Parts: sequence; structure tokens; C-alpha cells
Amino acid sequence: MRANLLQVWGPLADASVVAYLTCPDCMMPSPVGDDAIAYRCHSCFTEVVFESCGGCGFRQSIPSRWHTAYTCGKCGAKCLIPRRRLYSTSTKAFGVQGYGHTYPKF
Ligand SMILES: [Zn+2]
Ligand SMILES: [Zn+2]
Repeated sequence: MRANLLQVWGPLADASVVAYLTCPDCMMPSPVGDDAIAYRCHSCFTEVVFESCGGCGFRQSIPSRWHTAYTCGKCGAKCLIPRRRLYSTSTKAFGVQGYGHTYPKF
């Protein structure tokens, strides 16, 4: 269970609605709000976005500089990256469980 679900919502809730996601580039955690659809790594400054695997539904982070496809970090499927990102259809940080790999995978 996520720790922030146990906390009482209040004026200071913002500080608790943050997950620490691992950067797909440098593997360092950065604080990311649950509703974010992208963030910039605090360590290497890579811009990171979130994708959901079309095969297994695994939510993962990938560097935004990847433009065509990535390899799912869980099932290994090739996943296409959408050209446009709309906030409403983008994967949010909430529930992201890992990171994807380059396609083809090295
Ligand atoms: Zn990084
Ligand atoms: Zn998958």
C-alpha cells in the first residue's frame, strides 16, 4: 500500500502526494507528484514521461527523447510511443512501477 493513502488529507497533503520514481537513465530516484505526466530527473536532468504497456498494462517511465518505440520493462513487448501527448490520455505518475527499455533492447 502506498504510504500516502494512510495520511489524512489537509493543507499540507501536497508533500505526501509524491512518489519517488527511478530515472530510466541514471537510476536515481526523483520526487514526482501523482498527477504528473512527466518530470525532469533531479540528477541527470533527463525529461521523463510515462507509458502503459499495451500488452500487460505495466506502467513505466521512459526518457521523452525516445520517439518511436520502447521495450516494456515487464513483458518485453515492443510498444509504440504516441506522437502527441494529451494530459487527459497520458499515463500519470500514480501507479508507475518501473521503467521501460530501449527498442530494440541492447
Ligand atoms: Zn536521471
Ligand atoms: Zn508489457
